[in-house]
Amino acid sequence: MKVERLVVGLIETNCYVLYQNDGCLVVDPGDDYKKIAQAIEGYELEGILVTHYHFDHVGALSDLLKHHCTKVFNFKTLGMQKTNNFTFEVVLNKGHKEDCVSFIFDDIMFSGDFIFNQGIGRTDLPGGSDVEMQKSLANLKKETKDYTIYPGHGPKTTLSDELKNNPYF
Ligand SMILES: [Zn+2]
Repeated sequence: MKVERLVVGLIETNCYVLYQNDGCLVVDPGDDYKKIAQAIEGYELEGILVTHYHFDHVGALSDLLKHHCTKVFNFKTLGMQKTNNFTFEVVLNKGHKEDCVSFIFDDIMFSGDFIFNQGIGRTDLPGGSDVEMQKSLANLKKETKDYTIYPGHGPKTTLSDELKNNPYF
């Protein structure tokens, strides 16, 4: 699987395009529909993955759906999911918002605004909860796989680096 990062919108949200064979997925179409459309041209869009419904993560969602007939994966589609070329798991990570999920592809995790490179998402916005964030962090800490983590903002990282360097663990 090839992962491409597009930085979109005013608050520099990471939108990821995942490629496998002739298929692709888009994670968090935050803004800049044209940029995303260009990146997926020539590939079958097999799904749109939404980590959570904040405007900076879904700004281009309606445009994408207008032009492509595809499925949306989010907090309503928890568990193992399969499209033509991709298999992944949708895991609930409440804390930043009540509808926050991560998408896990083997040893790769798209974490949205749950966890960043040496940070975590805010918990003081509507739908946020510090208690839930602590639970989500505790669950992630139990993981035995050293995930490569692609967050909703900023550079990628790994779970082992975060366990070492992230002050919130
Ligand atoms: Zn957010």
